[in-house]
Amino acid sequence: MERTICYVDEIFALLKQRLGVYTQPIVSRKKKEIPDTPFVTLISCLLSLRTKDKVTEQASRRLLTKYNTPEKIMRLTQKQIETLIYPVGFYKTKARRIREISKTLLEKYQGKVPDEFEELLTLKGVGRKTANIVMVYGHKKHGYLPIDTHCHRIPNRLGWIKTKTPEDTEHMLKKILPLQYWNDFNDLFVTFGQTICVPISPFCNRCPIEQYCKKVGVSTSR
Ligand code: SF4
Repeated sequence: MERTICYVDEIFALLKQRLGVYTQPIVSRKKKEIPDTPFVTLISCLLSLRTKDKVTEQASRRLLTKYNTPEKIMRLTQKQIETLIYPVGFYKTKARRIREISKTLLEKYQGKVPDEFEELLTLKGVGRKTANIVMVYGHKKHGYLPIDTHCHRIPNRLGWIKTKTPEDTEHMLKKILPLQYWNDFNDLFVTFGQTICVPISPFCNRCPIEQYCKKVGVSTSR
């Protein structure tokens, strides 16, 4: 590792302590009546793209309580999937993708979600963020860092890194963030980004890690 983050132990301890009171992000949250499988994680993650957590949660529940394997999904028409997942963003495209992915999983992987990162990326509609999420929360593997908009924005504000894209952020963080924090990173930083270090005018006055933050690019705060 070329360099590390100053006070990283303190920062993670403070975030864990403070953020415990908030709800976990939708994709990693266990959902009653829905099995905790890599397929459920994959489909929940696809549903969550560009969609509010509450809408994702309701759509996931409607679809995945009954249709939580590729075989079961293939019993539905695209139209039926659309109806179940509406109003998630791009629900028509997502319904088509969910069917396509289920079909591929049945034809190529005996109905299982592959546990190889590169294989996941070959599935239509699966990008790095989704593949990383499936590896961490679906397959419970170590060594992966899912980066969404919050995970990209906050380390830049803190002054840990200076990156322009989530992919660069993933690459840089893997060099400087100690491995023991990788599995907690997404959950903690998504929750932190949704509640305190929000995109516009973050709540710095109630931030538990303000003393460690360089506030890069923060022009207004509360
Ligand atoms: S001090 Fe403000 S900008 Fe820095 S991490 Fe906290 S909320 Fe975000």
